[in-house]
Amino acid sequence: MEPQEEAPTLRDAVARSPGASMPPRLDEEERPEGGASLEADGAGADGLWELPVEHAERRPECSRCSRPQKVCLCPFLPVHPLHISTQLYIIQHPAEESKVLRTVPLLTACLPQDKCKVMIGRRFSEERDVELSTVCRKSGTLILYPGAEATNLEEFITDAPVYPSTIILIDGTWSQAKDIFYKNSLFRLPKQVQLKTSTSSQYVIRMQPTNRCLSTLECAAVALSILEKNHDIRETLLHPLQALCSFQLQHGAQIRLSKEYLLKNGLYPKPMPKNKRKLRKMELLMNSVKI
Ligand SMILES: [Zn+2]
Repeated sequence: MEPQEEAPTLRDAVARSPGASMPPRLDEEERPEGGASLEADGAGADGLWELPVEHAERRPECSRCSRPQKVCLCPFLPVHPLHISTQLYIIQHPAEESKVLRTVPLLTACLPQDKCKVMIGRRFSEERDVELSTVCRKSGTLILYPGAEATNLEEFITDAPVYPSTIILIDGTWSQAKDIFYKNSLFRLPKQVQLKTSTSSQYVIRMQPTNRCLSTLECAAVALSILEKNHDIRETLLHPLQALCSFQLQHGAQIRLSKEYLLKNGLYPKPMPKNKRKLRKMELLMNSVKI
């Protein structure tokens, strides 16, 4: 990985007081490469990265977008579910389901029910998860997980022997997704792909580990627009995310710079970990080496 230009900048973050009206418009030219499909480890146990604007207890939720009714995002969703031929499977870490600001409900609300299936769990087996096993063994199935073994999706589809019909995404923090990917042999069966995009995350209110990491919704938006060969899909799917971030910023949320940016600029607010493995991971992040 190459050193990245950072966006949003520190200047943006400092200048942006609570109540700022719009999410940042990132300069297209400065956007670093995208590719990872993982959300941050940052929204962690100590609550440091949690947003101050939403309370932990669940309020009545909108049945379509799963947002609290008062801040329902349905006006930003397409009137009718998008017409797509690709089948999406979201493998969701159980911890992700309970998070207040999650992107998968927005994604499922935009897609036909039968085209987007969310499976919650950490371990999946051939015996217990027959449908998933069958899907993983199909030649038209892809799994989106970045790494040395992964092929760029756009390149892959140009000469794929069988045009992909199904794509699997993992929804969780970086470490949760890694655990799910490597500890389930089923996920080694589909062709592994990644996204090579010039976009950095627009999900600016949740800290991403590196500048290239996209939220699950963004990954799905980019992947589907490539597979369906329709750029409008990406715009439509990102619309509710942009509305969510805009709303949160208007109500006091702060832009979350990536952990990579904070580390590289000496702004990481917590002491460096004592655990050697974690420390090594941080050092790799600082040096922009793939972890
Ligand atoms: Zn709603």
